[in-house]
Amino acid sequence: MSVERNSAVGEQPSAKTKKAAKGSNGKPESRLAMVRRARRINRELAEVYPYAHPELDFRNPFELLVATVLSAQTTDLRVNQTTPALFARYPTPEDMAAAVPEELEEIIRPTGFFRAKTKSLIGLSSALCDRFDGEVPGRLADLVTLPGVGRKTANVVLGNAFGVPGLTVDTHFGRLVRRWKWTEQEDPEKVEAEIAEIFPKSEWTMLSHRVIFHGRRVCHSRKPACGACPIAHLCPSYGEGETDPEKARALLKYEMGGYPGQRLNPPAGYPGKPAPARVE
Ligand code: SF4
Repeated sequence: MSVERNSAVGEQPSAKTKKAAKGSNGKPESRLAMVRRARRINRELAEVYPYAHPELDFRNPFELLVATVLSAQTTDLRVNQTTPALFARYPTPEDMAAAVPEELEEIIRPTGFFRAKTKSLIGLSSALCDRFDGEVPGRLADLVTLPGVGRKTANVVLGNAFGVPGLTVDTHFGRLVRRWKWTEQEDPEKVEAEIAEIFPKSEWTMLSHRVIFHGRRVCHSRKPACGACPIAHLCPSYGEGETDPEKARALLKYEMGGYPGQRLNPPAGYPGKPAPARVE
């Protein structure tokens, strides 16, 4: 489970947290300074992305669970373009549990790994019907017993469909928190445990959205747009990407770059355009 002792700035570092960033005096950054800097990044990201939200379209916990399983190894956009037909055909766990695998495969084919995902979806729908009265459970310990549902998926569902705080350590989250020297861990569960010590639980879900938003729009894996990054002054990895402001601006994605977002039905307040419904 994630660790909840976190509200006091300056707690002792866990044994594995390294002081990798440099302070203004050139000395290694202290734990206290790192925690303060981390919380400042979170506050500034909240100002940059006041509209941060889950980028999967869903109307209930079951739809979010299914969409999250489908989102492995593909974009949320591709999932959002696929799920309207899927949920029209199989609106409930009962319907999906009884699906003919080949028919379900055909619908979710654009999301990739469609045979394995079909197995997971039918398996988890059957488990929901058999063990949870056809309802998605609101506890992590129950969610991770469902086929194809790991800790990351469970936290997404808990945080966004049940209001239970959760950290979503996906590829973006892991990459950014390492660039920011909040942790050096590579294993998602260890990353989750260390980040949980830096932030109060009440921040976990929105922090996850903000960090993932920033990773998708600005701090990309291969070419981070450092020269157009609103939190560059707080980032020990500034310069890892493009620093020329104009070239960096050209790297920005989604609403930050003036393009549509990933959701077909974005929440109110989203400043970008909705995604196109077409599956290419
Ligand atoms: S300065 Fe560069 S590496 Fe740091 S957060 Fe911004 S884009 Fe990422």
